[in-house]
Amino acid sequence: MALLGSGMGKFDNRVAVVTGGGRGIGAAIAKAFAAEGARVAVVSRSLASCSAVADEINVQRPGAATAYAVDVADHDAVQALGKQIVEDFGGVNILVNNAGVTRDGLIMRMKDEDWDTVLDTNLKGAFNTVKAFQRTLMRAEDPRIIQIASVIGLIGNAGQANYSASKAGLIGFTKAVARELSGRKVTCNAIAPGFITTDMTDDLPEKVREDVLGKIPLGDFGNVADIAAAVLFLASPDARYVTGQVLAVDGGMTM
Ligand code: NDP
Repeated sequence: MALLGSGMGKFDNRVAVVTGGGRGIGAAIAKAFAAEGARVAVVSRSLASCSAVADEINVQRPGAATAYAVDVADHDAVQALGKQIVEDFGGVNILVNNAGVTRDGLIMRMKDEDWDTVLDTNLKGAFNTVKAFQRTLMRAEDPRIIQIASVIGLIGNAGQANYSASKAGLIGFTKAVARELSGRKVTCNAIAPGFITTDMTDDLPEKVREDVLGKIPLGDFGNVADIAAAVLFLASPDARYVTGQVLAVDGGMTM
């Protein structure tokens, strides 16, 4: 990791947009980019959470981060935000679609709105941001799109039909985007995290946690830094020849 503000980071002169940057995995990704010299647009639903992360970054590197509150499921609001961010930063090199929610329940009890909220946030949200940023990415140096999917999008899970469908859809979307934008050298890859300790997983019953642990060959839950490290690799020039892929960061759960 570069010294903050040393001007020798791996992402100097790069701008990264991180959705869901207000907490958990997204906050770790935003801070990791900033620590390597990038300027970062920290996007989340509530201004309080993304501002807190942006403030933390700006204490270390004044002016490196700006917070933006938006509901990624809102198509028009996201297009407007895209224009604003491009105006504020002068362009974007890296888009990380990390915003995501769960509304778990067995299908027979799942409410219509629980299906819609999860699909609208996790899948349509990514469509909305890709649409908003693709023009600026097509003109940028080392342009990257990284989608935070889930192992649940690969293997499914009882009680998470909406979430599984949204993440499997996100993987299909990733491959379509990779093909569609390849002519302009924009790469698009997905990361499928396994069980990562964050707010999203904190309230799982002890029994479920124990069951999950038993299915992880490396014998431990992941942490947010594990995902941030994978994102930074895919965003780096080293990954220039990698596109349309799904990288599972899951302790071996899905091998
Ligand atoms: P958290 O619940 O800790 O944080 C989610 C973030 O997404 C928050 O910043 C939240 O905003 C933001 N967000 C939620 N809905 C919206 C929306 N409609 N518009 C804008 N922002 C929104 O989640 P994690 O950090 O655990 O997860 C991050 C991503 O990683 C998700 O896509 C999740 O599905 C995926 N993932 C997580 C795993 C895990 O084990 N934790 C495993 C596999 C995948 P706000 O701060 O304002 O509430």
